[in-house]
Amino acid sequence: MLDLNICHLYPDLLNTYGDRGNMLALQRRAQWHGINVAIQNITIGDSFDASAFDIVFLGGGQDYEQEIIQKDVLEQKGSEIKNAINNMKVFLCICGGFQLMGKYYKTWDGKEIEFLDALDLWTVGGKERMIGNIVFESDIISDEGKPLKIAGFENHSGRTYLGSDIRPLGKVLYGNGNNGTDGYEGAVYNNVYCSYSHGSLLPKNPLLTDHLLTLALKQKYDTFSALNILDDTFENAARASVIQRILK
Ligand code: GLN
Repeated sequence: MLDLNICHLYPDLLNTYGDRGNMLALQRRAQWHGINVAIQNITIGDSFDASAFDIVFLGGGQDYEQEIIQKDVLEQKGSEIKNAINNMKVFLCICGGFQLMGKYYKTWDGKEIEFLDALDLWTVGGKERMIGNIVFESDIISDEGKPLKIAGFENHSGRTYLGSDIRPLGKVLYGNGNNGTDGYEGAVYNNVYCSYSHGSLLPKNPLLTDHLLTLALKQKYDTFSALNILDDTFENAARASVIQRILK
């Protein structure tokens, strides 16, 4: 039986708006595909050995929580995270976790917080928060030959900008995305997937969940080629109605 080990990094601090739902979606869909999943929580003070995991997840957190973990992530876990990224480990990073992967975060009141510098991106806070539903389209994942439309919910003050070395996860169809101006949402580098879309991202978008599981299984098992197709009638109907409502 195939198995996957998933790490939830800083689950006690980075887990806003139900981001843990992404872990549950990964676990449950993997089980439906006949894959065993173990989840381990790792937080401040814990040692982090990336080689023990196939997927690493970081959720969102407010400026306050990001400041609390900054020292630990930079000094204790940073080089392990960077090596894992270079070695094509699968990461999913949401909102505050997405920002944390970048070079710095300049808060809306002018404080500059140094971040990991694992990805070529940076974040500048604005006074007005960007809150609400979001729909974006990603040509990285195919939905019957067309770019996948992804539905989510965003709530952030930070405006994130991507450098030349990294591509967006998708193009915004409704909402703000990375910064409300360039029309991009999220980021992808190697097997690191970042998004501003919170908790319901993977439960709402099963093809994205399967995409991440597939990447992780291909990294782990040389002979793995593809997941079986699940009956997603219910999930697809729910997703289509959410997207239709938002885009109407
Ligand atoms: N602190 C960040 C911001 O407000 C992240 C917010 C979040 O993760 N929801 O931009």
